[in-house]
Amino acid sequence: MGAGHHEAASAENATFVFQNTCSIRENAEGKIWHRLKFFESLRRKRRSATPHVAILGCMAERLKDKLLDAGTVDLVVGPDGYRQLPTLVQAVLDDPQTPLTCVDFSPTEHYHDIRPTRKPGDVSAYVSIMRGCNNMCTFCIVPFTRGREKSRDFQSIVDEITFLVHDGPGLKEVWLLGQNVNGYHDASPTSAALFPSRTSYQTSSAGFANHFNSRQKHAPGARFSDLLAAVAAISPELRVRFTSPHPKDFPPDVLDTVAAHPNICSALHMPLQSGSSTNLARMRRGYTKGAYLDLVAHARATIPGVTISTDIIAGFCGETEEEHADTLDVMERVRFEQAFMFAYSKRDKTHAARHLDDDVPEATKSRRLQEVIDTFRRIAVEKNRQEETGAVHLVLVEGLSTKGRIGGGDNNALAFTGRTDGNKRVVFTTAGGGPLPAYNAHAPPQLPLTAVGPAETVDSLRGTYVAVRIVEAGGTTLKGVALGRSSISDWAAAR
Ligand code: SAH
Ligand code: SF4
Repeated sequence: MGAGHHEAASAENATFVFQNTCSIRENAEGKIWHRLKFFESLRRKRRSATPHVAILGCMAERLKDKLLDAGTVDLVVGPDGYRQLPTLVQAVLDDPQTPLTCVDFSPTEHYHDIRPTRKPGDVSAYVSIMRGCNNMCTFCIVPFTRGREKSRDFQSIVDEITFLVHDGPGLKEVWLLGQNVNGYHDASPTSAALFPSRTSYQTSSAGFANHFNSRQKHAPGARFSDLLAAVAAISPELRVRFTSPHPKDFPPDVLDTVAAHPNICSALHMPLQSGSSTNLARMRRGYTKGAYLDLVAHARATIPGVTISTDIIAGFCGETEEEHADTLDVMERVRFEQAFMFAYSKRDKTHAARHLDDDVPEATKSRRLQEVIDTFRRIAVEKNRQEETGAVHLVLVEGLSTKGRIGGGDNNALAFTGRTDGNKRVVFTTAGGGPLPAYNAHAPPQLPLTAVGPAETVDSLRGTYVAVRIVEAGGTTLKGVALGRSSISDWAAAR
């Protein structure tokens, strides 16, 4: 925008389209090849060289030449090249015949001085705190597409979020982002001066190995728990979340920091990948089934009510039925609140692609993946029915639900959507009509639990915290009725 361009209403109207990409699994890339065909058809329809097409992100990094060979792409820019975008865009506009690439890794690029544009009314924002990954799990392409780990300057993160909360769009929720987010460590001299006493820091969770032996392992400077605490202190009414972590980087002080701050959400993502110690060793994850289960027990003991989500890969190289059964067993024991489940997809350059056999037949992979999905769903539904019906949650309201309205006739009411502290989606209606009263957790108002025409609008509720009583609990979405407004501070004080 700073270079004088403006956003087009759609790809159909655009002079330039920017397609961000992901390489983590083959089907993510498949979708982009499909999208390129669509851009090609727009050009044919217009009988013109526009829209010019820029491919950004991991696929750009990985497949630069192949993308250019496809003929539709004018610009290929990897994750460390975005600072050059205005110049590159101008060069393509000036000379559309010459496609350009910019895919070099930079050991220092954090984009710390570039603030993304936020749309007015956004409740939530993502803020990148580190980039890259050193872990080299054998199945994963991230270290090859994103390069080495580099943590962003501590103060610039705090300044950016302070601006977003107090001076910018009035943010209510921030997601701290990174490929290995809880490995955050800013060892710069300024950060070392602020956090000098971190030299004997316990870097890993008990029972977890850190395969990457960094020279800076014991250097002073802000760790992930320091950053979490500093971001939480920006406003007691700002919800703080983070993704994507590695389970090895949950040392006790991270769990204690989450427990100590009511506004750091009690929702932890702990990617399991596999429940089998032998499979985990082939994946080079640095933990065993037992260590993972101990970590979950420790997290639950430290953070009351914490929800735990996970990632699981079915059918990794050499996976036996027994190893697969171990994954299902961990799922039964942990009872995850949310899970992202995938069939193993072989990625070029990775250790697994070079040295292990992708020998689980496709049909077996699909069957195991289905068993993983079925196990997750069955447990999630059971758990929600047992624990959620009748529960009251503090929900941060995001807007109107896609369902629009719930009920019919006299009970036809606007349906709002938001998330609990544990990151469960809640669709709810306001009860009784009129503006919502203040909610007192000590003496919950005895409002009728049926939805009637509400006077609240999306503008009056978006970005506020509302106490919602759950009346129906399904697999992943909870349905409820608003009891009244509250705040994180009041909610925490009443517990
Ligand atoms: N840093 C996180 C994972 C980020 S990648 C961690 O260490 O756990 C997001 C998820 O994609 C992974 O957790 C994994 O479940 C999945 N994934 C990565 N590579 C994959 C592959 N080759 N095949 C299938 N799933 C994969
Ligand atoms: Fe990939 Fe996560 Fe392993 Fe890094 S820690 S290599 S991002 S799976």
